Amino acid sequence: MDGIKECKICVNTTINPSIKINSKGICNVCEHYNKYFNKEDLEKELEFIKKFIKDEKYDCMVGLSGGKDSSAMLYTTKKLGFTPLAFSFEIGYNEMSDSVKAKIKRITQKLEVDYETIDINNYMSSVDKECLEKMSDLYEQPLTDEFKEKFREIYNEGRKYYSTKQNISFPFVRPCQICRKIAIKAYYEEAVKRNIKVVFVGINEWASNKDNKYTAIRRLKPFENKPEVYIVHLPFLVQRKYDDLPEILKEIGWTREVGDHEVDTGGSACLLAKACEKKANDIMGFHLDAARLSREITVGFIDKNKAREAIKNGNRESKYTVKEVLKRGKII
Ligand SMILES: [Zn+2]
Repeated sequence: MDGIKECKICVNTTINPSIKINSKGICNVCEHYNKYFNKEDLEKELEFIKKFIKDEKYDCMVGLSGGKDSSAMLYTTKKLGFTPLAFSFEIGYNEMSDSVKAKIKRITQKLEVDYETIDINNYMSSVDKECLEKMSDLYEQPLTDEFKEKFREIYNEGRKYYSTKQNISFPFVRPCQICRKIAIKAYYEEAVKRNIKVVFVGINEWASNKDNKYTAIRRLKPFENKPEVYIVHLPFLVQRKYDDLPEILKEIGWTREVGDHEVDTGGSACLLAKACEKKANDIMGFHLDAARLSREITVGFIDKNKAREAIKNGNRESKYTVKEVLKRGKII
């Protein structure tokens, strides 16, 4: 497309309205990271998190999807000295294949880690349900030019409601934006219930705070009279690289199996995300996951080719429509 620029480092392009490319061909995200990222900040964060290692039944929870990233993360928490409770969230609209279940069982046994599946449907508020229903209506619309324009407007407006504190009924284009709110509530309550302070998640996510310090930790303290919980993006905290994975995966006996989702890394196995991605990509001109994958390139977890591969693999026709996924999950 004419006039569209792509960042020299990552796969962000100016089709995405929040992306600016500077005179050197670098996007605003990469530019900020290269200017402010300091490894020492993360070393301090790692020391801080290790203070929660305790001589108790569990001193942390570790999200486990059976994918490469989360499986390797479970291994790393053990290496750091934690005694984790591994868990997977179950929510109506997602399903875990038998081969993934078997793999999780094998890995947790090998690492001698307890494992639980946690039903988080109860954390879905009526507003969350409304959002999902509105989103499913949006994805039913015929692709007229007028609708495409409206869809893009909704995407841009939805970005303003990224904060999980805003409880607004809105037809978000990205299902992850709704799911994230539900998951954060669930992480917090499930950790507090077990008297656990640290929840490790395998997404290579990060943030920069108002002092431009890069952080892998998000502190949750939604109530004055209840304890805080730390959500820790372990891959970023330990500066994991994609190339570190094979050795760890070999050690824990992780293998690819039939029924695994095709996307090699950083891809979503979520049925709901899958149901949205092709249509959204066709309308928006970029993959809904492009920004997240770009963030993984920015920090050196994957390279550009890997991200392109993930986008290509993740952009296939879904077996179900958004409405069908939600109906199967008894959400609508
Ligand atoms: Zn970039």
